[in-house]
Amino acid sequence: MTEATRRLPDEAKARVAFDNSYARLPQNFFARVEPTPVAAPQLVKFNRALGLELGLDVDALERDGAEIFSGNGLLPGSEPVAMAYAGHQFGQFVPQLGDGRAILLGEVIDRQGQRRDIQLKGAGPTPYSRRGDGRAALGPVLREYIVSEAMHALGIPTTRALAAVTTGQPVYRETMLPGAVFTRVAASHVRVGTFQFFAARGDTENTRILVDYVIDRHYPELKGLERPALALLDAVAERQAALIARWLGVGFIHGVMNTDNMTISGETIDFGPCAFMDTYDPRTVYSSIDQMGRYAYGNQPLIGQWNIARLAETLLPLIHDTPDEAVNLANDAVTRFMDRFQDNWRRTIRTKLGLTEAEEDGDTDLIRAYLALLSEQKADFTNAFRGLTGAAADGTPDRFLSAFAEPGAALAWFEAWQARTIARGTDAGSARAEIMRSVNPAFIPRNHQVERALAAAIEHGDYSLFEALNDVLSRPYDVQPAFASYGEPPKAGEEVLQTFCGT
Ligand code: AMP
Ligand code: MG
Repeated sequence: MTEATRRLPDEAKARVAFDNSYARLPQNFFARVEPTPVAAPQLVKFNRALGLELGLDVDALERDGAEIFSGNGLLPGSEPVAMAYAGHQFGQFVPQLGDGRAILLGEVIDRQGQRRDIQLKGAGPTPYSRRGDGRAALGPVLREYIVSEAMHALGIPTTRALAAVTTGQPVYRETMLPGAVFTRVAASHVRVGTFQFFAARGDTENTRILVDYVIDRHYPELKGLERPALALLDAVAERQAALIARWLGVGFIHGVMNTDNMTISGETIDFGPCAFMDTYDPRTVYSSIDQMGRYAYGNQPLIGQWNIARLAETLLPLIHDTPDEAVNLANDAVTRFMDRFQDNWRRTIRTKLGLTEAEEDGDTDLIRAYLALLSEQKADFTNAFRGLTGAAADGTPDRFLSAFAEPGAALAWFEAWQARTIARGTDAGSARAEIMRSVNPAFIPRNHQVERALAAAIEHGDYSLFEALNDVLSRPYDVQPAFASYGEPPKAGEEVLQTFCGT
């Protein structure tokens, strides 16, 4: 267990063609650190499709995955580092966080020409581990696997899951749990907190280097602009506003929207106590550590804006030489975040409701009345939209009404909606239903199903539910009659009331 990481021979080079730009940045951006080998690694899941997308040698990786994705063996070309960052955790600033249990193995250029990070999570302590053990438990690893891949299949920007390995070693949380290592792929792991790390130290020079780095990597269209830092702030605000609107559209609650868990690339990251809402209520919170509801479903846009304001603060010295002017420009960008969110959200909810034609006077009221109906009726968020999609196809309300405990209450709204939509367009609903189907999933990672799949894997080593759930969720918008039960909300007694971050 205390053996050093094995360096794989040069022949293994072809498996992953690393090109590590982050490791070429100044040395205070990261700490060089190697994974700590584990006792008896076993590959429990490998994402071949993603491996192919990344241009990896998937056959070799699948064969030797236990060694490589546990960190026991290090591929040639890998330059493992733990990234430095800071962050606001539940509103409190922590100047020194960093990858405490994640190790960036390196970067590859994927088949689309995009640079992607490959990172191990749970591969042992780093200089940023503080009191943590640098390890991960199997439950949270499988959970992140399921949910991040489901997000991707839903079409929402997210980090991806390449592999999950069990370690054969326990980790100690409240109880003893089986350990695991997760392999995550991201456009990059640069966060709002990465900027805060340098800004908190008054290190404008490295903040500037970071700005240039992320513009190069994520926003090349901004290169050469007069105020690159301001343009970057605006661009990140746009991507985050769009992202959060997409989350709300599928009932996703991130759970820990700390600034260290908000990417600069606009990808969803860090699936800790995240959850998908069953019954609609904007105040919904699942995370056991979020007692104040700071990160409740309906609070996410405001928190997004708050985080963008924290990013803005780090960029002030680079936005304008005159501090007052810098603050004014940054404030405008922060204000624009909310306008952008509203635009994105309006588009999302309109498409979900099949309001595909130009906006009309009564639309806002119709949308409000719909959300009020869901809330009053405690309707299942996903199935109400999907039911409406079915009703749009059928031209009858039945499938919509079946999503409500009291169909009578929903009928009046449905008739108003039908009057609004049938009055427009001569498509008899089919084109509208097609569009609605493409944004209203039948299948989301429902908490009770995720928990069930995790329990079978953890308690009995039975991965069949985990596999089945991944399969169903890879086609969330398709009609999959054989898997109809996966579309059902939890029955009484099955509801998951709390989720845990598991760190
Ligand atoms: P999170 O809430 O998962 O985003 O993590 C917040 C911070 O705690 C990050 O700096 C993590 O690297 C660190 N951390 C979380 N779990 C552990 C662990 N088991 N060992 C070391 N550091 C950890
Ligand atoms: Mg984090």
